[in-house]
Amino acid sequence: MIRSVKHISVMSPYALAHLNAPMGKRLFSLSQNESLRPPSPLVAEAAANALRAGHLYPDPDWRELRLALSELHSISKEGILCGNGSMELIASLVQAFTDEQNAVLAPAHAYPFFRTATQMVRARFDVAPEKDRCVSVDALLAAVKPDTRIVFIANPGNPTSTRIPYSELVRLREGLSGDTLLVIDEAYGEFADHLNEHTFDLVERGDSVVLRTFSKAYGLAGMRVGWGLFPPNVAREIRKVMNPNNISAVGQAAAIAALADQAYMIETCEETTSLRDGLRQRLLDAGLDVPESFTNFVLLRMGSPLKARRVDEALRAEGVFLRPQGGAGLADCLRVTIGVADHLNIAGELLENWAKEGLL
Ligand SMILES: *Cc1c(COP(=O)(O)O)cnc(C)c1O
Repeated sequence: MIRSVKHISVMSPYALAHLNAPMGKRLFSLSQNESLRPPSPLVAEAAANALRAGHLYPDPDWRELRLALSELHSISKEGILCGNGSMELIASLVQAFTDEQNAVLAPAHAYPFFRTATQMVRARFDVAPEKDRCVSVDALLAAVKPDTRIVFIANPGNPTSTRIPYSELVRLREGLSGDTLLVIDEAYGEFADHLNEHTFDLVERGDSVVLRTFSKAYGLAGMRVGWGLFPPNVAREIRKVMNPNNISAVGQAAAIAALADQAYMIETCEETTSLRDGLRQRLLDAGLDVPESFTNFVLLRMGSPLKARRVDEALRAEGVFLRPQGGAGLADCLRVTIGVADHLNIAGELLENWAKEGLL
């Protein structure tokens, strides 16, 4: 029987959510950080139109999408690359800039795909401790080694839901040498854009990348469109390893249409953050530990891994699926995606009742 190469055979499969409702129960998925509502109605129309030219390969340079992104964010369109989800961009960065001779560094509770991408190229994966589940620039700088090629952070973080300000990102970049690339994954950036922090400016200073995605605030997780702003030398190298026809014509059309309806996206963010803060308050009132969130999810700190597992199982038995966080080093926590109000209420009420009964 044929075997995969050693560094692949020792990897565990990437853990996505297991979504099987118990017999006779409805499924309430609050597990994948998907948007609480479908994309703008303009998206379905644009995607249907794109299908008419489905016999043709998509634009390999994503010209219309890049132009729209550059205008919206006032950034250079030359520096923009689009990926089959931002996951493709993460994997391509690791592939182009690291190998078994060097290392990737990330905070202890970072997005688990940073590690997966690193294992795929046999580079070493180092972690720096966090402070109260928040990225610590001092700890990252202390953990940098001469062979550290990439530092990844998600800001705001997943699954931590915390963020660090722009001034800390600048301090991190300034503490790194020119041989280390800083990658800031802003998958939840739109939920913090009202804070007006100009992270894209950091890319112009050199040796930094900012990644974004259409999967969260724009509600296009199923279309697989991510993008980023890259310095020219980094963009040139990673294009060599990217799939040259990576985003379908339908995906590109969908992203362009979603971008054109900013009002809809902002409304999604407002609805999400208002439900999020409501749920958080309700759970705090019930005595649960729920840190402040800057994303479309909240983290429940259950106090111990055993408690987290029991609560997760009890919720699953009712058809409510949260996301356990052992993979990110937070086995005592459960992540709750902000879904529609009805679904959140079901989860909120169960947790509240169990707390009242002293079960939590
Ligand atoms: C959801 C998420 C992604 C994945 O984005 P895609 O564009 O769907 O591949 C990347 N990074 C973080 C931190 C995420 O939470």
